[in-house]
Amino acid sequence: MKKLYIDFDGVILDTIKVTYEMIEKLGLGTPEEVKEFYYNLDWNHLIKQTPEINDSINCIRKIMNSNLFDVKVLTHIISYNEGLGKIEYLKSKIPELEVILVPKQINKADMVNPKDAILVDDFLGNLDLWHDKGGISVKFSDGNKKSKYRTVTKLDQIIDLFK
Ligand SMILES: [Mg+2]
Repeated sequence: MKKLYIDFDGVILDTIKVTYEMIEKLGLGTPEEVKEFYYNLDWNHLIKQTPEINDSINCIRKIMNSNLFDVKVLTHIISYNEGLGKIEYLKSKIPELEVILVPKQINKADMVNPKDAILVDDFLGNLDLWHDKGGISVKFSDGNKKSKYRTVTKLDQIIDLFK
């Protein structure tokens, strides 16, 4: 079984788009204001109003049922509340899914061993570090943007890529 790590923000839930809209509505401009916003964000509230990306939860169930992968979620967090919100949400959807919370200051590739493991992520910076440490990087994209890594637009495409 191949190890498969799945990012949360921008892959499972569209939290990035929703928080950008909140920031715009609030008229926040400076990096300090934005940082403060994310630090104080109520993630339970955010998650309730954030749509899933391309049926992500069902796709993860499908991937787990294929028995081809050892699946875990690998997600950066900046606050305790963010970690709690993500864990509670995922446990309510897929209780058996493991979640690894990574403090924002730590690279994902330093938190777990990337060697021969797959990372699906929408952020190129994470994928580059992962690739440099011997991992298999897969870009998640909601459009048809070209990437130097193999790209999926829906999570269950992972099954065909690696079976
Ligand atoms: Mg992301």
